[in-house]
Amino acid sequence: MMIIMKPSATESQVEAVVERIESVGARAHLSRGDEVTVIGAIGDREHVARLELEGSPGVAEVVPILKPYKLASSQLRAGERSVLDIGGAQVGGEHFALIAGPCTVESLDQTVQTARAVRDAGATLFRGGAYKPRTSPYAFQGLGQEGLRMLAEAKAQTGLPVVTELMDARDIEAVLEVADVVQVGARNMQNYPLLAEVGRSGCPVLLKRGLSATLDELLMAAEYILKEGNPNVMLCERGIRTFETAYRFTLDLMAVPVLKELSHLPVIVDPSHAAGRRDLVLPLSLAAAAVGADGIIVEVHPSPDEAICDGPQALNLDDFADFASAVQGATALAGKALRTA
Ligand code: PEP
Ligand code: MN
Repeated sequence: MMIIMKPSATESQVEAVVERIESVGARAHLSRGDEVTVIGAIGDREHVARLELEGSPGVAEVVPILKPYKLASSQLRAGERSVLDIGGAQVGGEHFALIAGPCTVESLDQTVQTARAVRDAGATLFRGGAYKPRTSPYAFQGLGQEGLRMLAEAKAQTGLPVVTELMDARDIEAVLEVADVVQVGARNMQNYPLLAEVGRSGCPVLLKRGLSATLDELLMAAEYILKEGNPNVMLCERGIRTFETAYRFTLDLMAVPVLKELSHLPVIVDPSHAAGRRDLVLPLSLAAAAVGADGIIVEVHPSPDEAICDGPQALNLDDFADFASAVQGATALAGKALRTA
């Protein structure tokens, strides 16, 4: 249920409503807009309905939240969008985030060199995997803790906040020591205990859409994180599996405006994993910017032919500055700006 307060509602009237919601074991989620305060009552709908909050002092209206996800729903925020603060960099609103870096951390040199170059070209955040979800158990699985130390060094040298994947809740402490954003990969989108764990951590989360997940399933996965009291979630469209075999996955760009209609959370696009091909990354990035994405996450490598992981889709580091300025030009199409250093 959503309790919309009158513009004239006083602080004590808001508090009284919150107390009554909590008295039946539901959680009250306060959202203060410029005009009105909206209180989301998350819990047993019957119990909240029995409170008969309509007509209580300061209450304008009580409306049900129709979607199965509540905290992720745009309805809860009355049209206001979430803007996340990641170590001083904003994601969402009128900001466009350029997240770039290698698929996997391979060496200190490769990591720091890439971080420096993407920072100089205007990247907002640095990405790099230390724990890699690989289709084959025989493939390189990432450098683990050693990789995390390299990411920490890259962060120290460039000041760029770090996005890195967490696959196993047992690694969360180590990952949180360096991560400014924890990535939950496509294959773990429905790993509910992991989602709850990153939710409890409070650390910002980049949640990737599962290979065959619907938008409702993605938003329900986000709800698991939000429900633990962590509001810092960004959604990521990274291509879904369709009957098409000419490219790795099908980038579902319609997901961007539709997710933004359904949810207040920022939406990021990953053209690298969708395409699996370097030549498609620029056009898909421009399209993502034009359709209103809040940012993109792309893979970059100093010598893609020698990359251990995902080389064919990695942008060449030497081309990255041109890539970034082309993307910057496209962000204006959707009224956004990429703030370059
Ligand atoms: C990645 O970002 O390197 C990755 C493995 O992504 P996804 O989970 O989207 O496949
Ligand atoms: Mn990759």
